[in-house]
Amino acid sequence: MLVNKAYVFRLYPTEEQKKFINKCIGCSRFVYNYYLNKKELMYKNNEILTLKDMKKDISFLSKENEWLKEVDSSCLRTSVEDLDRAYLNFYNGSGYPKYKKKNHSDKYRTVCIRSSYKDKNYSNIKVDLNKREITLPKMGKLKIRGYRNLIEFPFKIFNVTISKVGKRYYASVNVEEEKEDKEVIPRYITGIDLGVKDLVITSEGVKYKALENIGKIERKIKGYNKALSRSEKGSNNRRKIILKLERYYEKLRNARKYYTNFITSKLVKENDIIVCETLKVKEMIEEGKNHLSKRIANSSLGEIVRQLEYKCLWEKKKLIKIDTYYPSSQICSICGNRKKELKDLRIRSFVCDECKNEMDRDINASINILTEGIRKYMGQMG
Ligand SMILES: [Zn+2]
Repeated sequence: MLVNKAYVFRLYPTEEQKKFINKCIGCSRFVYNYYLNKKELMYKNNEILTLKDMKKDISFLSKENEWLKEVDSSCLRTSVEDLDRAYLNFYNGSGYPKYKKKNHSDKYRTVCIRSSYKDKNYSNIKVDLNKREITLPKMGKLKIRGYRNLIEFPFKIFNVTISKVGKRYYASVNVEEEKEDKEVIPRYITGIDLGVKDLVITSEGVKYKALENIGKIERKIKGYNKALSRSEKGSNNRRKIILKLERYYEKLRNARKYYTNFITSKLVKENDIIVCETLKVKEMIEEGKNHLSKRIANSSLGEIVRQLEYKCLWEKKKLIKIDTYYPSSQICSICGNRKKELKDLRIRSFVCDECKNEMDRDINASINILTEGIRKYMGQMG
């Protein structure tokens, strides 16, 4: 089985390479905005600009704007591909494509080209983990850091996204990996309840608390946001604040990523079948709209499910999602009696009127999720 995977490395470009990366990012943005504008103008005249038209037109655009020729030309093409995809997503119900702004998701993508004409293994992008270097088109070699345990990089590279976050640079290398086709015979199964205070509660009674030590980072973000609103537009001070904010948002993202990865890896390693709820994303966002810590927990939950999905696929394990409206918190996990009035989230324990079972309400819920998952699994087996 072939699986797509991305490896993200921190990049250490020289001053000259930094300039080149910034130029590529700028040109990608320019091309994106230029064709977005052109599409809109043509639409008003009932004309359509296709991806093929745009790709053809790039060479004309480069003749008029010589500086576009200085960059990695592949990033101009991927930029119009992204625009095309943004329109497709829009037709499928996502928001209308937005104009790209500077200092806001600064990145460009370059495609790996292979050839066997002269050199059997020629490729314009290479990762050398021995020397900790990456070779990128028109830039040569760049120092990288990350994946200390990896010593080889034998994967087939598709493309690389180079991004700038604050003052840091990253390369996300997309590869295809061969995965062994082994059938997993399910032995261990767990049900998990997802929450805000405890992110994950398993049916074995293990609780993974929401991150606590990020309070300091949150406070910093709050402070800098205040400072930002007071600062003068276009001032040097404002720019410095934006850089600081980006650093702290990055720290927050990293802390969260590390923690959610830790939880999901552990769950997937210890179990063969994982049962979870289907998240009600819209409701969650409504609920946590004004509260940073809630918002963070909510996005962590989405991330946990996303990671479970791909890690289970990766390890050939099973993720079973049960219905959004399954009343996991109202049912007694011992006798199956359903209590309707238990809706107050402040009540931490579940007490059954029928069998007098008293239990932590989240653990009770996760056992119900497990039971429902087993029922669904048996149904699938026929
Ligand atoms: Zn009961």
